[in-house]
Amino acid sequence: MALEFFQFPYLEDNYGVLIHDQASGETACVDAGEPEAVLAALKSTGWTLTQLWITHHHWDHTDGLLAVKKATGAHVFGPKYKGVEKLGAEGSETREIEIDGLDTRLAEGDTFSFAGHDVQILHTPGHTMDMINFYIPSENTVFTGDTLFVMGCGRLFEGSPELMWNGMQKLMKLPSETVVYCAHEYTSGNASFALTVDPQNAALKSRVAEVAALRAENRPTVPTTLAQELATNPFLRPADPSIRAHLGMEHASDAEVFTEIRLRKDNA
Ligand code: ZN
Ligand code: FE
Repeated sequence: MALEFFQFPYLEDNYGVLIHDQASGETACVDAGEPEAVLAALKSTGWTLTQLWITHHHWDHTDGLLAVKKATGAHVFGPKYKGVEKLGAEGSETREIEIDGLDTRLAEGDTFSFAGHDVQILHTPGHTMDMINFYIPSENTVFTGDTLFVMGCGRLFEGSPELMWNGMQKLMKLPSETVVYCAHEYTSGNASFALTVDPQNAALKSRVAEVAALRAENRPTVPTTLAQELATNPFLRPADPSIRAHLGMEHASDAEVFTEIRLRKDNA
């Protein structure tokens, strides 16, 4: 039977998601930035948490980990990789960061089971070096944390643009009907920026109008689908001739165009 998904907002612009299997009663939660928000979502659904899936070490995804684990006894899955924080103005010194409280540490290609469904791990370093995505093939659903956003991608705090582009390509290979849950409502800002690098894109223009209408009613623009992102997200479109012409980068590599788009977004 199909899994149920319950998305809830927390902090300023974060989203958490509960995943529930009615037959077994199992429930998973993606990230735990704010313990009160997770526990309130469980209370309102009446579901009992059995698994917690952590995407990366940033505080807005992990601050509630230990409290939620203590309150629910959930088994906590997270990255096997370490985060790498840059220290000092030059960022020449670094510090490794390991998430506390993980029961199972997962790497690229690892699979575990949630209520009889396979969950596959994709490692997409860039925003952080430890970032993992949780993909449920049976539900055509992926949780991308702060990697792929609606019409955007995560800021590169720890990894290079080339690394992030590699990660994006892993996501682009998933079936186009894949439903994408990301961890932030950043869509309005992403949409405005997307228009500056891809102004001729008709699909993008109509989507910008759609998300503006949603946000005007304070409704979420998440989840999205990979098909929509392939058509409108400039960070998945560095091969697009119109974007390349607009940037004057007709002969550059996809990684170079991606890097330029990321740089422009940082300076926007
Ligand atoms: Zn983050
Ligand atoms: Fe975040």
